[in-house]
Amino acid sequence: MAFEGRTALVTGAGRGIGREIACLLAARGCDVAIGYRQDEAAARETAGRVEQAGRRALLLRADVSDAAQAHGMVGEVLDRWERIDVLVCNAGIVRDGLLAMTAPEDLEAVLRTNVLGVIYPTQAVAAAMVRQRWGRIVNIGSVAGQAGNRGQANYAAAKAGLIGMTKTVSHEVARRGITVNAVAPGFIETDMTRALAEDQVKRLVENVPLGRLGRVEDIAQAVLFLCSPGAAYMTGATLHVNGGMFMD
Ligand code: NDP
Repeated sequence: MAFEGRTALVTGAGRGIGREIACLLAARGCDVAIGYRQDEAAARETAGRVEQAGRRALLLRADVSDAAQAHGMVGEVLDRWERIDVLVCNAGIVRDGLLAMTAPEDLEAVLRTNVLGVIYPTQAVAAAMVRQRWGRIVNIGSVAGQAGNRGQANYAAAKAGLIGMTKTVSHEVARRGITVNAVAPGFIETDMTRALAEDQVKRLVENVPLGRLGRVEDIAQAVLFLCSPGAAYMTGATLHVNGGMFMD
């Protein structure tokens, strides 16, 4: 129970990768605040699983790309639990399309959610972590941020920005006992990739040396590691969890 007595806030924890991260942190002893945007039923399901693990759960509806809502979400956790030890910025969206065909609102939505939606919660949580003299921040990037991906100019730009932000903030808070790292998943089986056609998935898997799509557990384990004592000397790093499809 490495996380006994600790509290975590996971954004986008209602579904997919975020839900798995929330459940794994709870299984290791963390109380978990579950951020979601609109799917309350899914977020309640995650909360139920956290409580089944014997931990406290808090449901927080907030659009992370809105500064006031993101700060309000963090404020509510601090009001209830007084501290936030772990922040996982996982919420993200895709609006794919060739750049020439992509509407400005789809470019902006992805940049707002996937960049500002990481910056605002981090900004909001930083003061509390500095006071605590301890904190772990993990941002969920993407292989597209490093390798690029056809039809994902907005998404790749946002995820590359997330890496630059991770490195910068890690410099700013390192002396306060806070680490800031990123996990860059490859293609993971979630709602985000379920929309892909069977032949697209087949072609994707051909480029994955480990021969399969990733599972939410693969990403959650990497996040858990970055928050664990074993990663105490890591900051500003990006862990690639992509089955070998991109090697730095
Ligand atoms: P899903 O689409 O399954 O879930 C996305 C989650 O983010 C939902 O809980 C959603 O809330 C939440 N969310 C979206 N926009 C906002 C917002 N503006 N404010 C608050 N919450 C929001 O995504 P995945 O689990 O697949 O992806 C999680 C992260 O991993 C993302 O950052 C994604 O970019 C990244 N990733 C995913 C990959 C994959 O193959 N699946 C590959 C590489 C990276 P709600 O349910 O309420 O709408």
